Amino acid sequence: VTAEDLEKHMNDCPECRVCLETFRQSVDVYKCVGDEPIPDGFVDALKDFIRRETK
Ligand SMILES: [Zn+2]
Repeated sequence: VTAEDLEKHMNDCPECRVCLETFRQSVDVYKCVGDEPIPDGFVDALKDFIRRETK
């Protein structure tokens, strides 16, 4: 999963946009996306995405 994949998914998935906001508050991202199947690397990509955004 790349940051581009992540951004595409975010555009289609309101839940994951909420998840991004939640993750910024240091809540466990796995709990946040627990109700949808997340691919390997999704969480790492999400972390990278946030790191770039908050730079
Ligand atoms: Zn999603």
